[in-house]
Amino acid sequence: MAATPEIQNPARIYRRLLSYARPHLGMFMIGVVGMILFAATDSAMAYLVKVFLGGAFVEPDPRIIWLVPVGALLLFLVRGIGDYVSNYFPGWVGRQIIKAIRAELFAHYLRLPAAYYDSATSGQMLSRLTYNVELVAEATTSAVTVLIRDTLTILGLLGMLFYFNWQLAAIALTLAPLISWLIQKINRSFRRYSSRIQASMGDVTRVTKEALDAHRVIKIFNAEAFEERSFGVVNELNRHTNMRLIAAKAVSNPVVQMIAAVGLAAVIYFAIQQVFAKEMGVDDFLAFLTALLLITAPLRRLVNVFGPLQQGIAAGASVFDVLDHPGESPGGPRSLERARGAIELKNVSFEYGPEKATVLRNVSLKIPVGCTAALVGKSGSGKSTLVSLIPRFYDPTAGSILVDEVDVREYRRADLRRQVSVVTQDVVLFNDSIRNNIAFNLADPHSAQVERAAQAAYVMEFAAELPGGLDSMVGDRGSLLSGGQRQRISIARALLKDAPILILDEAFSALDTESETRIQAALAGLVRERTTLVIAHRLSTIESADLIIVLDEGTIVAIGTHAELMQRDGLYAQLHQLQFNV
Ligand code: ADP
Repeated sequence: MAATPEIQNPARIYRRLLSYARPHLGMFMIGVVGMILFAATDSAMAYLVKVFLGGAFVEPDPRIIWLVPVGALLLFLVRGIGDYVSNYFPGWVGRQIIKAIRAELFAHYLRLPAAYYDSATSGQMLSRLTYNVELVAEATTSAVTVLIRDTLTILGLLGMLFYFNWQLAAIALTLAPLISWLIQKINRSFRRYSSRIQASMGDVTRVTKEALDAHRVIKIFNAEAFEERSFGVVNELNRHTNMRLIAAKAVSNPVVQMIAAVGLAAVIYFAIQQVFAKEMGVDDFLAFLTALLLITAPLRRLVNVFGPLQQGIAAGASVFDVLDHPGESPGGPRSLERARGAIELKNVSFEYGPEKATVLRNVSLKIPVGCTAALVGKSGSGKSTLVSLIPRFYDPTAGSILVDEVDVREYRRADLRRQVSVVTQDVVLFNDSIRNNIAFNLADPHSAQVERAAQAAYVMEFAAELPGGLDSMVGDRGSLLSGGQRQRISIARALLKDAPILILDEAFSALDTESETRIQAALAGLVRERTTLVIAHRLSTIESADLIIVLDEGTIVAIGTHAELMQRDGLYAQLHQLQFNV
């Protein structure tokens, strides 16, 4: 959905994000050990300065000639190890989290009801899975690493400050509340901009995806400039929202550093007075100053980390928004091995949403086992909607649909859907071989059944001429095949599924007569012995149907055979006249 999800409770979202890290706590804790090592080296560095100055100037001690350089080397070695461990292990955990969230999101996408897809854009959904999830990793690992590591560093250095001179340290500490208040304020704006950026990134993906999908339409309408302008709008919005975040980030650092500098100046003022009064030695003074200066780097990183952290929280919110949207229920308790295929609609009414118009009104009809029923009616009369209720893409708003005298809602959803094959005019093929497209989750792709289905649906006829045979690739969404060939693959798929109920959207008008005859023959094989609901456009199908159902504005206006309906001289006869000019 295009709307930016409201981020109600950032802490709750963050806790939920971190719950994905829980299974990998061990690995993360190794990282924390690295962070502690790293943080400790900063404090040790300040201490080393004191040792060095004390040994060199205050009470000269020849041992420091080698002690301090070796100490420094050791410190950097430990620091290096700490740095590696504190990056590698949380990084590992982060990629696990991304993988887990992506898998969960993808699985949830597959289970979202059809109604969700009606209102969401696939661009936004793609962008959530690719872009937003990536931001989550940033928030749950790199940001956490910085957060823990640099907080520890700052705490260690503060400890050193108190150890060197507690009065001066107390002065430095008075600035802490001011800095934390500022960080909170900056944070809020980070979060606001982050969710806007993600929504605008979704728009960029959406417009791109639409343009890629519609490349032919764009070409034939010479609409390249038009599309570029549409893209320009979302692209500019994306830049603009990103700039707001960049500006907020850019200003946050100097402001915090300025406040820190004020503290630094005040502390140095008092420190120099203490040095003059001989209350503080030069070693303590310089070690204190070193620790104070060393604090500024982790403080800077800490302030910077809130950007990615808030982006991650906003991204997490948008991901959880989808995950919390209820998926399709598994359906009722009743299992169904193989239906006979009797279909009945009892007073079925349907609308796509509360504020949308009624699409079906009080529709009742019975289709006996093995019967071929043709649905006819003007475009928009509700034919596609009616058939989409049978495999429960949607549920009726009122009334019920029965398969074998049992309400479809009582069956397990997967069992119900196993009983239904759908062959539509726009065939959906996956970028895979012909064989795998036919077998699609139904059978072993190399089984004889697949070849039989390919034979019966006249797929073999063209596949045999391809160099790879059935193993030839079909291209992106089947782009390497002709419309008729794609259609035959979808029929083969339906033959292989061998479901007792068949739904056909039979608008194959774009096909040439050659493939038309093949498809007709393939369809004839498919329709045999099944209960078939055809959205019929072709005279031959309509005339030979056992039952013709005439829909008008969502109600059934006539049911009967061709001969019966022609006699009545109603809407059917009119439609017939109009469409077929006879
Ligand atoms: P037909 O198949 O007879 O052409 P449809 O069943 O496709 O008719 O459409 C019936 C009505 O339902 C139309 O007014 C159409 O605008 C509306 N409609 C179809 N699909 C949806 C949808 N997914 N969301 C909202 N309205 C829809």
